[in-house]
Amino acid sequence: MTPLAARLRQRIVAEGPLTVAEYMAAALTDPAAGYYATRDPIGRDGDFITAPEVSQLFGELIGLWCAAVWQTAGCPDPVLVVELGPGRGTLASDALRAIGQAAPGMMAALRLHLVEASPSLQVRQRETLGDVLPSARISWHDRFEAVPAGPMLLIANEFFDALPIRQVVRRGDGWRERRIGLSAADDDFAFVESALEARVEEAWNLAAEGEIVELCPEGEALAAAIGRRVGAQGGAALIIDYGPSRSAPGDSLQAVSRHHFANPLDRPGEVDLTHHVDFAALARSGRTAGAAVFGPLPQGLFLGRLGIEARAEALRLTAAPGDADAIPGQVRRLVHPGRMGLLFKALAVAHADLPCPPGFRPCH
Ligand code: SAH
Repeated sequence: MTPLAARLRQRIVAEGPLTVAEYMAAALTDPAAGYYATRDPIGRDGDFITAPEVSQLFGELIGLWCAAVWQTAGCPDPVLVVELGPGRGTLASDALRAIGQAAPGMMAALRLHLVEASPSLQVRQRETLGDVLPSARISWHDRFEAVPAGPMLLIANEFFDALPIRQVVRRGDGWRERRIGLSAADDDFAFVESALEARVEEAWNLAAEGEIVELCPEGEALAAAIGRRVGAQGGAALIIDYGPSRSAPGDSLQAVSRHHFANPLDRPGEVDLTHHVDFAALARSGRTAGAAVFGPLPQGLFLGRLGIEARAEALRLTAAPGDADAIPGQVRRLVHPGRMGLLFKALAVAHADLPCPPGFRPCH
């Protein structure tokens, strides 16, 4: 049993079953034993690989996206570049390099603000970014709310999928909360149901008996906070993650360990826990907060419109032979519908006066 599992078990005995959100928050971000607090999970030797770790083209295109939006916003100086959950710092590093080449004015004007809960990943990010930006121009925060005021370009790749979700189950003409308790048979963690205190939107009442609906109040509140910020102070946010374009019922809670799916109730703190992001809910939150919202758009289409093929070809011509041969496969992994191209989506939340950002199409 993991140390965190022992603690969660005691908590359940003392207080009763935990909501899925309470379990997820402890498993991922408990300061002593949480998954992100205790390891670097990303990469071939870790548990999962993210788009910026697949190819430098991903971060570079996002850097160019930021530079283009900065220019259409009137080149604000100073400008904040904010990243939520920067992992190893690879995306920020590739993005800043591209910004430095394409828009030296933006490079001179920017301050980098990283929102990262894990002290060990903060250390890793400091190492990665040391060559790209003087450390005096980088700040770390544990919450988005702590980022100072000002026009910003915000990036969040595979961040919202890690924010805790609640799960509710349709029973009769009402709802029950899905919780994690202890099985009477073997005392292992097990799903149970109990009375629900939260409000569930009426649209979900069409769900069938026994169907699970996921609610991510933290994600919606964050999308609203981002919408308020860029709406009032200028700039735009780019959110990339996996999930459907339209809200749909279903249990998407998943655990990953060493590049394979695992049981979400096994080894809390030692496996990654994520869920599919409800992009329609994030879009609604951003719009209600006063921002313009574009997308969601499949990642493959978004990267294609940003010119990934041409940049890949240019990179191939200058890369060492071994590296050059790997590039087409990396691009395929990012854009192919059967790989990351279709399940992953891009959503932009922007100041209402900005033109449609690169890659998106005006929708209102
Ligand atoms: N964006 C990176 C890493 C994705 S993994 C990439 O694409 O490679 C998720 C990241 O979010 C990690 O850096 C993790 O430590 C951080 N994180 C997860 N939950 C968080 C929270 N609630 N607050 C702040 N950071 C969080």
